[in-house]
Amino acid sequence: MRVKFWGTRGTRPTPGRSTLRYGGNTACVEVRTTADDLIIIDSGSGICELGNALQGPVRAHLLISHTHWDHIQGFPFFGPNFVRGSKLTVVGPKGSMKSLQSAFADQMDPVYFPLTMDQMPIDLEFREMVSGESFEAAGVKVTTHTMHHPIATFGYRLEADGRTFVYATDQEPWSDPDELSDLVAGYQAEGRPAAEIEALWPQQYIEWCRGADLLVHDAQYSHEEFKTRAGWGHSSFDYALLVARQAAARQLAFFHHEPMHADHQIEAMVEEALGADAHRKHRGLLAFPAAEGQEIVL
Ligand SMILES: [Zn+2]
Ligand SMILES: [Zn+2]
Repeated sequence: MRVKFWGTRGTRPTPGRSTLRYGGNTACVEVRTTADDLIIIDSGSGICELGNALQGPVRAHLLISHTHWDHIQGFPFFGPNFVRGSKLTVVGPKGSMKSLQSAFADQMDPVYFPLTMDQMPIDLEFREMVSGESFEAAGVKVTTHTMHHPIATFGYRLEADGRTFVYATDQEPWSDPDELSDLVAGYQAEGRPAAEIEALWPQQYIEWCRGADLLVHDAQYSHEEFKTRAGWGHSSFDYALLVARQAAARQLAFFHHEPMHADHQIEAMVEEALGADAHRKHRGLLAFPAAEGQEIVL
């Protein structure tokens, strides 16, 4: 598998000189299989540049973590949408406020965009999944996992040719046991499957990340910032590092950069997080901030 970052920023696009190194486009990752088939994860503003780099009609899976702006806002500007013969299978979590298809169609309402989704020549298929469900996309085994975020959100674990790539963003660590037990009680009352309930436990999250050759993880906040951002649905650099260590990941890309962080601040926060972790005697993990345009071969 090859992984390329087209958008690494969280929340909103942040062009400008202070974000040149790690990038200003919102979430979008390209995954290529050994057969060169295409899987795209999230369609933040980064997907526009990816679209410009693709030739002719495109057939691909588009895995959507959730429908917050920074994960779908680039979609109306994705060039292959306007090329006849293109086909996208769009996958996302079931159980959000509105269907995945409606969320995509509504952002192309004529109030916001000159063409409706139905007017685009691309063939779109929308598939909503439940947490823990596995399916195959372009010969890759994909397993979903619910993230701790204000709306229904998935992470995706991709496995092919003995390699594993885990995309885990818009995830806040569970710090309030009462909040977690309330959610479990709610799931039980709704009669959700046991596997979906078990998947909520923090240890299950680590198991889902286990052995990743590359873990792309939410790291929006510094240690200090995180203290005042409870409930915003994001992680700190130290939490991303903790997950990577516990799950014995080989590489960790800090992702979903906070729009207020300039490149040099991101670097300082990575150093702060790695420094605090140095005494833990875990070795062999390569940790770095995800950079727009960066490509990693697994
Ligand atoms: Zn986000
Ligand atoms: Zn979000």
